[in-house]
Amino acid sequence: MIYPIVKYGKEVLEKLAAPVASFDGDLEKLVADMFETMYAANGVGLAAPQIGISKRLCVIDITSGKEPDGRLVLVNPEIIAVEGTQAEEEGCLSLPDFRAKTPRPIHATVRAQDLTGKYFTRTGEGLLARAFCHETDHLNGVLFIKHLSRLKRDSIKRKVRKMMKSGEW
Ligand SMILES: [Zn+2]
Repeated sequence: MIYPIVKYGKEVLEKLAAPVASFDGDLEKLVADMFETMYAANGVGLAAPQIGISKRLCVIDITSGKEPDGRLVLVNPEIIAVEGTQAEEEGCLSLPDFRAKTPRPIHATVRAQDLTGKYFTRTGEGLLARAFCHETDHLNGVLFIKHLSRLKRDSIKRKVRKMMKSGEW
């Protein structure tokens, strides 16, 4: 099932999501739906709050479905180590058509649980490190524009407000 993606401006995107406590069939179904929704939207990552579900859960695939082992599920993820800095273009399915050079670490290590509740750690580099940070941020109510200069952030917010007024958002 493809969910509609919640856009910037909705409260669910800016609140702390609740930990996942049940590792059951419902969680599996939700994760399958999240992958389907992410691929349909041509995204490389999707966090549960972006489909209106305030839970600490996200899916990532920086290969865009091209490699089966590119599918990553992070349940209750935490960034436990970072190294270096990069400033590539970043975007977000909840802020469609806005992209900006966003500072992030080059390496990021995430500790998370899988669908069975088992803990694992994984270190990502480049785009994967960016995805780990971006998606984990979502679970803490943080959007990528928070990492931009105030000038850049305010400019994006202004454009979104305009689109909201004209009903294009
Ligand atoms: Zn996002």
